[in-house]
Amino acid sequence: MIDPTLNDEEVQFRDSVRAFVDKEILPNATEWDLAEKYPRELLSSFGELGWLGVTFPEAFGGSGGGSVLYALMCSELARGSAAIALGMYVHTALASAAVLHLGSEQQKSDFLPGAMTGDKIGCWAYAEPGAGSDISSVSTRARRDGDDYVLSGSKMYITNSPFADFMVVVASTEPDQGIKGLSLFIVQSDNPGVSVSAPLKKLGMGASEMAEIVFDQCRVPESDRLGPESGGFFEALKVLTLGRIASAAFGVGLGRAALETAWAYCSERVQFGKPIIKQQFVRFTLAEMATRLEAAWQLTMHTARVADAGHRHDQEASMAKLFASETCTWVCERALHLCGAQGYMRESAAQRFYRDCKVLELGEGTSEIQRETIARYLGA
Ligand SMILES: Cc1cc2nc3c(=O)[nH]c(=O)nc-3n(C[C@H](O)[C@H](O)[C@H](O)COP(=O)(O)OP(=O)(O)OC[C@H]3O[C@@H](n4cnc5c(N)ncnc54)[C@H](O)[C@@H]3O)c2cc1C
Repeated sequence: MIDPTLNDEEVQFRDSVRAFVDKEILPNATEWDLAEKYPRELLSSFGELGWLGVTFPEAFGGSGGGSVLYALMCSELARGSAAIALGMYVHTALASAAVLHLGSEQQKSDFLPGAMTGDKIGCWAYAEPGAGSDISSVSTRARRDGDDYVLSGSKMYITNSPFADFMVVVASTEPDQGIKGLSLFIVQSDNPGVSVSAPLKKLGMGASEMAEIVFDQCRVPESDRLGPESGGFFEALKVLTLGRIASAAFGVGLGRAALETAWAYCSERVQFGKPIIKQQFVRFTLAEMATRLEAAWQLTMHTARVADAGHRHDQEASMAKLFASETCTWVCERALHLCGAQGYMRESAAQRFYRDCKVLELGEGTSEIQRETIARYLGA
């Protein structure tokens, strides 16, 4: 649909990402999914194209753009492969953004230029076997020892960790202080105290790679602490809102891919003497899929514009993430249904979308956590 709110730069950028996706990602997406391996070299290509630095200042190799450009990129990439988009987002909107927002000038100069080119890839290590929605249950410990911290504990489900060069790790410096006792650390993946498991097997997002990380007496210099001691993660939660905008944009991009796939199948598939798209139920379903996706997109873009105007946008970001991810799940389920048995086959795009979509309701705060956040902002 025409979007008169996009300026020339935004349209041009979106179209360039779309052209790249059509040529380089869409033809390979199923193969990458089935191989269950992230094509790491793509992140270097994204770096060369300037996409890893879209929202980062020029001083560190970025292009100084905002959330609208980032959302456009996320939705286009997710249309090609949600798993590829996921790896890009963990590196940019979480790991690198934490360095940008909380790092010292030295840390920014040390880490960001390489992160923008794709030479150094980051992961975001928050979740643990015992800590998911409940942030205060993080048990990875960072104990002071002279000028160092010593990290012990484990992180679970960490995207990009099998090939990441650096990790942004959430660990407790004051266990009795709950969230306020959590700090952030930049840990090099080749630190001898770090071990990363083999990639974990999962339902969807096949081309993305995640693993468990164990920290065993992992020594990290004080200069690699990110932000304040006991309070770093609390600060990060306030500034890392781009992740929810990205998740919302993924939901729309992935949903659009599912709609396109279902549309093509229903146009070609002939039953009862005519293409099934001529059946009212099919036409109405496609119309509703498109309408819900458009509503999700408008909410996402509104949130991105509020963010770019410099206003707080936590409530909008939660609403967009909640609505777009649940819409995406609904759309992907309908797309699979409309594609019938052919869609159910392992090589079909429809079943990949159906497997990929669910994680959007879990990561970046589950739907229940988003509802809690929205209710709190509404004063309930
Ligand atoms: C593909 C994938 C990639 C991931 N990548 C990363 C990564 O790179 N880095 C990282 O740190 N983590 C990552 N995660 C983990 C992610 O952070 C967690 O899935 C998320 O924090 C939710 O935690 P949980 O899965 O342990 O669910 P739980 O917290 O155990 O929740 C289980 C269910 O209980 C519900 N629930 C929990 N508390 C409440 C409540 N108070 N009220 C109502 N309902 C509640 C939840 O909504 C959910 O439905 C990834 C997960 C997946 C699946």
